[in-house]
Amino acid sequence: MGVEHSPTHLFADLDVEVHPDHPLGKDTWFGVGGQADMMVRPRQESALTELVRRCHEHEIRLRIFGNGANLLIADEGVDGIVLRLDHPNFKEVRYNLDGGVEAMKAMAGADMARTLNESVRRGLSGLLQMAGIPASIGGAIRMNAGGAFGSIGDSVHSVGCIDPRGALVVYPADELKMGYRETNIPEGVVLWAAFNLEPDDPKLLRERLLEIFQYKKTTQPMADSSAGCAFKNPVDPATGDRVSAGALIDRAGLKEHRIGSASVSRVHGNFLVVDTGGSAGDVIRLMEEVRASVQEAHGIRLHNEVVVWSRS
Ligand SMILES: Cc1cc2nc3c(=O)[nH]c(=O)nc-3n(C[C@H](O)[C@H](O)[C@H](O)COP(=O)(O)OP(=O)(O)OC[C@H]3O[C@@H](n4cnc5c(N)ncnc54)[C@H](O)[C@@H]3O)c2cc1C
Repeated sequence: MGVEHSPTHLFADLDVEVHPDHPLGKDTWFGVGGQADMMVRPRQESALTELVRRCHEHEIRLRIFGNGANLLIADEGVDGIVLRLDHPNFKEVRYNLDGGVEAMKAMAGADMARTLNESVRRGLSGLLQMAGIPASIGGAIRMNAGGAFGSIGDSVHSVGCIDPRGALVVYPADELKMGYRETNIPEGVVLWAAFNLEPDDPKLLRERLLEIFQYKKTTQPMADSSAGCAFKNPVDPATGDRVSAGALIDRAGLKEHRIGSASVSRVHGNFLVVDTGGSAGDVIRLMEEVRASVQEAHGIRLHNEVVVWSRS
């Protein structure tokens, strides 16, 4: 890529904010890790689609940052462009109670917790399974975030994405495969998601929300710096069943195991937590050690749920 195609030059005519050398690690829930060579915040959908198209055309790596709740940024930082959809235009949530099934449409940058609270306040059920899961709508869709109470895919009506060529592609629910912490949505930017929500009693919904939140607070170290579960629950090759990664980690004797600033949580074996001012390198080393110990103890390989970004 020549100087005339350096990212700053490439986006100069677009309605975007450009932040060179942005300290990205501190924006994540881990709160550790290095900088983004360039963070770009579009202000308009047209600027976003053109940005995506130009990155593709000039082979510039584009990564999308949601709420940073499932990301670990390597200490040496990340190259290419990091895209953040936090302008109010990308946080809008619209309700369409008269319109039948498409009851709510949220832009990718909308905050999951706020969206859930507002739907409960309006007496609409369908998103309670997302209680206590920090996310943007786009990040939750990309990960099909969820847990014991269901996943976000359960109530999806359709998802709108910008493909690498800058075109909007809409996926209706029957074309989506929302699996365990994964989807069949191809590479690109999730722009919005529409949900089927059902009218319900706001008081009962609020009580249920608090119940789920309370359950999470007692079973997960919500106040520590983490990205939630570090590993996906693996399939036990002996039985073909999915087993709890946290239980495997505990049974391998790793509870509270520490490497430098990173440790296995005492509350939940699959939460790796890091001290304030710690390093991503410690978390990465701990992940590798946990993976090796579980493999040795149980013959089962753990795969990352946390997405790790490092230089290409
Ligand atoms: C305390 C805590 C508890 C948690 N509990 C749970 C839980 O119970 N269940 C669960 O599933 N997860 C849990 N997590 C993990 C996290 O909440 C989810 O993975 C969530 O979906 C991450 O959303 P995000 O917006 O923060 O995405 P990010 O962390 O910013 O990004 C995650 C991935 O999504 C991609 N992405 C983000 N936005 C977009 C977009 N608009 N278009 C395309 N790709 C995008 C990113 O590029 C990256 O690959 C927890 C995390 C924490 C810190």
